[in-house]
Amino acid sequence: MKKLAIILTILFLGLVAVYFFFLKPEKYEEEDLYTEILERGIIKVGINTDSKPFGFFDEEWQIQGYDADLARYIAQYILKSPNAVEFFPVTPANRMLKVSTGEVDMVIATMTITSQRKEVIDFSVPYDLAGQALLVRSNSKISSLSDLAGLNVGVVFGTTAEKNMMSLAPTANIIGFRNYRTAYEALKSGKIDALTSDDTILSRFVYEDNNVKLLPKRYTKEPYGIAIRKGKTTKRLKDNLDFAIKDMQRKNTILRLRRKWLKG
Ligand code: GLU
Repeated sequence: MKKLAIILTILFLGLVAVYFFFLKPEKYEEEDLYTEILERGIIKVGINTDSKPFGFFDEEWQIQGYDADLARYIAQYILKSPNAVEFFPVTPANRMLKVSTGEVDMVIATMTITSQRKEVIDFSVPYDLAGQALLVRSNSKISSLSDLAGLNVGVVFGTTAEKNMMSLAPTANIIGFRNYRTAYEALKSGKIDALTSDDTILSRFVYEDNNVKLLPKRYTKEPYGIAIRKGKTTKRLKDNLDFAIKDMQRKNTILRLRRKWLKG
């Protein structure tokens, strides 16, 4: 009798263990992010706030720009309301972390799809294309990358331009900045001789100030994608983002966004 009780107890404990270790954990798996967004009713979007015309604060402290409009279109697709977006400021240096830790659902911030970044995060299909360029003072003698040897060249930390410069201009003196505003001021004051980043981002300085010019050559291709967390839980979200972007391209919505925000 005693023996039977012991056997039954062991069997029972075994079943409990099997249940908790093999069956129950499924319940604790992270929820599908798309479902979570639908339930929450709002999309958390990481965006640059010092990157006019893509993401910036207007006079009423509302976030505006190409990427902000794109986020509102995505909200319209997923939640049927362009206002179902909450913006979170990110910088090129911290946006990968913010998206991979789930602080934001996605980052829409002129972010280039690269194979190195794809090891850590995932991207939608591209929605636009830029190229790395050089911004210099209007009276500058610099005409291309080969003139940069020994000169001070500004980059923004965490950008593809920062990484590319090591191979594009290994003899230049690279100086990192936290944002475009401070990098641009350094160019104006002569602390740096050139500033390099995407042509789409640098063009804005030329529209606002004829003391600087953008050199015509492009050194890279920078396809912009919406960044999301990697893994199974974002598969549905990615499918929906890809569908929305392709639909916007078909309907010329992206073209209209370009015309609205990127002059010339
Ligand atoms: N497209 C570049 C990158 O992804 C620059 C973006 C930015 O400065 O926000 O690194």
